[in-house]
Amino acid sequence: MRKIQMVDLKGQYEKIKDEVDKNVLDVIESTAFINGPEVHAFQKELEDYLNVKHVIPCANGTDALQIAMMGLGLKSGDEVITADFTFAATVEVIALLGLTPVLVDVNPFDFNIDVEAVKNAITPKTKAIVPVHLFGLAANMDAIMELAREHDLFVIEDNAQGIGSNYMHSNGTKSKTGTIGHVGTTSFFPSKNLGCYGDGGAIFTNDDDLAHTIRGVVNHGMYERYHHDVVGVNSRLDSMQATILRTKLRHLNEYNDARRDAARKYTAAFAMDQKIITPLICDRCDCHVFHQYTLTVKDTDRDALVKHLNEKGIPCGVYYPIPLHRQKAYQDDRYNEDDFKVTNKLVQECISLPMHTELDDEQIKFIIDAVIEFVNR
Ligand SMILES: *Cc1c(COP(=O)(O)O)cnc(C)c1O
Repeated sequence: MRKIQMVDLKGQYEKIKDEVDKNVLDVIESTAFINGPEVHAFQKELEDYLNVKHVIPCANGTDALQIAMMGLGLKSGDEVITADFTFAATVEVIALLGLTPVLVDVNPFDFNIDVEAVKNAITPKTKAIVPVHLFGLAANMDAIMELAREHDLFVIEDNAQGIGSNYMHSNGTKSKTGTIGHVGTTSFFPSKNLGCYGDGGAIFTNDDDLAHTIRGVVNHGMYERYHHDVVGVNSRLDSMQATILRTKLRHLNEYNDARRDAARKYTAAFAMDQKIITPLICDRCDCHVFHQYTLTVKDTDRDALVKHLNEKGIPCGVYYPIPLHRQKAYQDDRYNEDDFKVTNKLVQECISLPMHTELDDEQIKFIIDAVIEFVNR
């Protein structure tokens, strides 16, 4: 059996090596390293793929979130509501901009932001909601957009883990995640579903004015050369990453299918086990792109399970072991432990199994057997 990896970037690269190597060399030959034609071509291709009017590439997914908030003109003291159970980048940029992060609990069934909890957290100072499509599963965007309309709030979708996911609206139509809110962001970090070979990110919007504003923000606040109208940042995607992303974007659906395929095999094997709760798989649509395949285990010592799997040569992850509201940097007197019941439980019970595009049946079976054996011993 091939060695099991949490993410197999090498195996994936080998299948596209000839094309990627040639294109990277072409970029070097061209010396158009920054803002070259590859970046513009990638931007257009991603706009088509997502069916969104504007894609603005930037340096990474954390910058993308920060720039989105700057573009919306959020100001010190504004409250921004986001999920307690996510990667720290989401809350970090809120705090960094002098905005007030308001963390709320998530749902037990999809691990995404709980819309009722958002509703209860809204105050006259609330300006935005940041849903995260955690682990690649679309959050309940219809309900979030409705709530945002009622209270006149912006919605910023953190789509770092969800690129390619199709959200199905209650009327049956579909939209790509990241294109439903006022603005969406993503990361091209190597292990993300659409990852480059370094750092990268992007911002999406259908709003022409916001796109214009953001294009200036990413470029030192310049709308005309050497005229700095707003305080901006320097955040760019470089041409080598863009050319790699162009190749990988053509395979993104196939990559997400491979992830879903592995997820179905895991779920089929675990479904009958009372102690293992499998992630939601919707058969009507493809709203889950399985950035992570995350189980919760009941009546089981999760940390001992991690250790057991590691000993058998199976890497696994605990995303995330500590709720954000209990992180030193983000503690706030307004938080009450009773308001984070789901997150507090998830951090103890969740475990993410190897998930990538190159998993074979032998590896999947080996992982399944190891989990079932431990949980039932
Ligand atoms: C990866 C990630 C980010 C940050 O992306 P970087 O490119 O690493 O800055 C933000 N939010 C979520 C949910 C992520 O998973």
